[in-house]
Amino acid sequence: MSKEIYLDGNATTCVLPAAIDAAVQAMRDCFGNPSSTHATGLKAKAMMDTVRQRAKRLLGVGSGRIMFNSGATEGIQTAVLSALCALRERREKGETIGSLLVYGATEHKAVPEALAHWNRLLGLNLELKKLPVDGEGRHDLAALRALAPQAAFVCTMAANNETGVVSDLAGIAAVLEGSPALWMVDCVQGLGKLALDLGNTRIDYAPFSGHKLYAPKGIGMLYVREGAPYTPLVMGGGQEAGLRSGTENMAGIAALGAVLAALEQGGTFRTPAELHGFRDKLAASLRAAFPGIVFNAPFEKALPTTLNFSVPGLSSKELLDVFDAANVRVSAGSACSAAKAAPSYVLDAMGLPNWRSSSAVRMSFGPLVSEETIVEACARIERCGQALREAGMLDTPTSGASVPEGVLQLSLGGNHTWLLLDAPSRQCIAIDHQAELAERVDSLLRSHSYQLAARIGTRDGMWPGTADSIAFGAHALRRVALGDGQQVFLLCCGDKVEYAFTGLAPLSALEGKVPADALLCAGREDVNACCTSLRAEAQAAAANADMNLDSISLARLLESHPQAVLVDVREAYEQAACIPGGRTAQSVPLSRLAAFVPGWLASAEQAPLVFFCRSGNRSAKAAQCLRRLGYRNAFHLSGGIALASPALALAA
Ligand code: PLP
Repeated sequence: MSKEIYLDGNATTCVLPAAIDAAVQAMRDCFGNPSSTHATGLKAKAMMDTVRQRAKRLLGVGSGRIMFNSGATEGIQTAVLSALCALRERREKGETIGSLLVYGATEHKAVPEALAHWNRLLGLNLELKKLPVDGEGRHDLAALRALAPQAAFVCTMAANNETGVVSDLAGIAAVLEGSPALWMVDCVQGLGKLALDLGNTRIDYAPFSGHKLYAPKGIGMLYVREGAPYTPLVMGGGQEAGLRSGTENMAGIAALGAVLAALEQGGTFRTPAELHGFRDKLAASLRAAFPGIVFNAPFEKALPTTLNFSVPGLSSKELLDVFDAANVRVSAGSACSAAKAAPSYVLDAMGLPNWRSSSAVRMSFGPLVSEETIVEACARIERCGQALREAGMLDTPTSGASVPEGVLQLSLGGNHTWLLLDAPSRQCIAIDHQAELAERVDSLLRSHSYQLAARIGTRDGMWPGTADSIAFGAHALRRVALGDGQQVFLLCCGDKVEYAFTGLAPLSALEGKVPADALLCAGREDVNACCTSLRAEAQAAAANADMNLDSISLARLLESHPQAVLVDVREAYEQAACIPGGRTAQSVPLSRLAAFVPGWLASAEQAPLVFFCRSGNRSAKAAQCLRRLGYRNAFHLSGGIALASPALALAA
């Protein structure tokens, strides 16, 4: 397994070794409760005071306060609660307050969610107003000027977590000059990357999270300007001078202190010039690997540690998969929303076209990054580009790229488009073609000199001409009506129906229309199984409880069955991005499974087939498919190579 290259620093960072040491020391030697008045407690308090003083110096807080808490989400709640309680009090006293809670359109979700939550709970019923940003991701100051007279509370950020765009805080301050509105600036992504001199600004609240800069998760800070209204979020023993009760996270504070000491003393983190140089290197490699790439934020307005980009024709999932296969960790948008395949609201707010916001990838690193890491990352980026070119997924395929033929499935959001590819005539028929995949299909066909001969649809009646059967290479393609406007397509070789493309039709609708042994190719992943047959489905109750292998049972099976075949069902570009080594495996991406199934079913010996992929999802589908079709010796590696013991030395 090649070494992991972690380029997701805006989500979180590793912990600085000195911070680990400081945390261990705090737990072992300085474990006192800082509220205790005996010597053990005083020692702990002295450590905590030292860290607080250091934070105050570094952030230039002047007469403002720094309190320790669990992180920025808590800091944001505290700031919002404080501001809203003060507004309610003023209103109850008969004073006029603004009617708007203004927040930047690209804020982290914690901000609008906290505003809505506390506004509702406190019964304030003020209006939440999104402050637009311009095409470069910066707050629209003209819009702020128009809103300022009605603003009660304004929330903006120092730097954006998805794009790295740095806000014009001086410009915002100038617009708010003379306004009674309270102002919170989310400084999470700015710590250690931007010069902050909080005491010399009119910022009332500034939350921070330690884990974005090499401290552990669970420790954060909140800056509160002297005189800014304050309401504790947590009440109890009166710790943190009554600002936040609960015994302090001393190990976290010690670790954060070590990071702050490294920042203050210099020499640990890269200089801004070095970081700019690293970004230039990564950008050059990305441009070389993906010639059509577009960067989604202007470099000159963004932190040098964040690159956000989109590649025409490639989804963020495809890019993430290929990077993950090359052991390069990047993310699509923010970590909190990474699990959801939604377009980025940050890029949407910047007015970028939908294809860019829905296919964006964020590559971010912390200021501890080494030159060697960047150099290796560049090499792997180039490898990923090469892998995608070889798979025909970029417009400029390499000469050695293999020509796809037969049946190919392309998926987006769970919907499948099927391509029928006849290599001798270079003709292609697209079934249930999705508009969002058009660029991808065009690029694939162009790069292998295919012509799109026809588009046909299972639900929209699309079909060329009036005859119910058309010739396609050595095959015939027939359509069969199902009623209620749906049709299925049968791909036939002589009398034999090899494949049936069934769209959204349930199995029950296919009885009598599709031969029992034709391979069914559905139009959505949740309709029918992936590549099955009616006969196989009828026997589907056949037990497959022994299908799942963990790394130990896999090792046993491979030892007792040397003829067993490992089958890698990841896409070709993921396989190509892997660093070679380990046991060889047959490469059959899931999108090509249908092309290989007949061969396996025809083999006399039915040697054990062990499918594997990254996380075990795709391999489970492949093994189930084979078992349903009667291939009893099909297995899969549950948990995928992400969990398999490296000792197994699978090809990854
Ligand atoms: N604000 C910004 C800009 C962030 O990037 C994050 C984390 O991603 C947060 C707030 C929330 O921080 P935490 O999850 O550490 O509380």
